[in-house]
Amino acid sequence: MTHMHVAGAIHADATAHAPQWLTLPEDVNALTKQLWSSNTRRTDAGELEIAGRTAASIIDEVGSPVYVIDADDFRSRARRWREAFGDWQVFYAGKSFLCTTVARWINEEGLGLDVCSGGELAVALRGGMDPARIGMHGNNKSDDELRAALAAGVGRIIVDSSQEIGRLERLCAELDTVAEVMIRVTTGVEAHTHEYIATAHEDQKFGFSINGGAALVALVRSHHSPYLHLRGVHSHIGSQIFDTDGFEVAARRTLKLIAQFKEATGTELGELDLGGGFGIAYVKEDTPATPEELAAGLRSIVEHECRGFGLQVPLMSVEPGRAICGPSGTALYTVGTVKAVEIGSGQARRYISVDGGMSDNIRPALYAAEYSATLANRASSTGPVLSRVVGKHCEGGDILVRDEFLPDDVMPGDLIAVPAAGAYSRSMASNYNHVPRPPVVAVADGRITTLLRRETLDDLLALDAGA
Ligand SMILES: *Cc1c(COP(=O)(O)O)cnc(C)c1O
Repeated sequence: MTHMHVAGAIHADATAHAPQWLTLPEDVNALTKQLWSSNTRRTDAGELEIAGRTAASIIDEVGSPVYVIDADDFRSRARRWREAFGDWQVFYAGKSFLCTTVARWINEEGLGLDVCSGGELAVALRGGMDPARIGMHGNNKSDDELRAALAAGVGRIIVDSSQEIGRLERLCAELDTVAEVMIRVTTGVEAHTHEYIATAHEDQKFGFSINGGAALVALVRSHHSPYLHLRGVHSHIGSQIFDTDGFEVAARRTLKLIAQFKEATGTELGELDLGGGFGIAYVKEDTPATPEELAAGLRSIVEHECRGFGLQVPLMSVEPGRAICGPSGTALYTVGTVKAVEIGSGQARRYISVDGGMSDNIRPALYAAEYSATLANRASSTGPVLSRVVGKHCEGGDILVRDEFLPDDVMPGDLIAVPAAGAYSRSMASNYNHVPRPPVVAVADGRITTLLRRETLDDLLALDAGA
């Protein structure tokens, strides 16, 4: 409270319309450690610095806005996940962020890589990813995508429908090959997360239902197919999940299914994947578990359930996406305008408009995702003011950070940094309003490497076949 600065009626009570979880910071310049990549700090002069480069110097070199990946943080996070899970396999979910360099890092760090389209597969292969450690997902893979996966020799195709079983059999006959498959099942788990990122309750598009019996039918059919080599069962319950309760229920139901399959066929399936969705800190109040805690928790759950069903512990795998790339990435923006907007009963909300928005991070608009932000080019000696960081698009919902305390003196030309922006930002980016997509740069020891360059107006116009 001591730093609080009251500048007239407009923010007479800075916290009145703050959400309950958002507490007034004691020091508006302070960085909350778990939000930022490990090599991010504030310099003595007060500037935000990522892996030895200040935010301002990054923008001087590559322009604004930009996604910045702390390369050592990314790689050591990937390594830490692999090491924490020991003999379990860890597949990085490429949809969270993928480019050829990331595929190379993932390959070099010994993880597997999940793709869910022909495009992601092409990037993974171009990046040198070992095909044997690629998993191919998707609820509606085309013939071309399946053919590309089979031709590349991917280690596993996660089958999502009975039509896909037929499609794969036909393609395998055509290519004279056998597909390595897992069966994606829905466990009926209601994950405690946003509806659009929960994937295991019954009424959604993914997988075969265990409850309805479709999962067992698909397993038996695949087991008897001469064209398929059935490796095991796959479950993914959703994303941004903080507790292991949902995984416990998923493990119990999938292992029960494996026990039923054993009863029906005499064969014990050797592999089980529990999916990804491990939550990360987007705001100060988020307290994610460490990979070591998760590994220990999941391991004891699986061992316990296997004992209960009289099964061997299968070869286990998990698929973290955001937990690896999310915290490593920071989005940097430049402030264009600042305005106070009357919101009734003498209250105002401060809107800070930056040079990006829903085209470079759709998550707040898509599922009300929360983010945080800090002033990046300097420390401020003014107090915190509740602010909303918004983009430049023609939508009222074009919000990047719905609620955050930022210094009172934020002005045009200042830089704003949004942490935990490494996952599902660039990978979900669009060209809405014909805004070119920002570049992704990696920074390590003060050196900037471009992973994806900035799109240009020429790139956009190159697609336009008109006059
Ligand atoms: C999206 C997805 C993941 C990764 O989710 P995160 O929240 O990024 O960890 C893993 N597995 C499957 C099948 C997915 O669809």
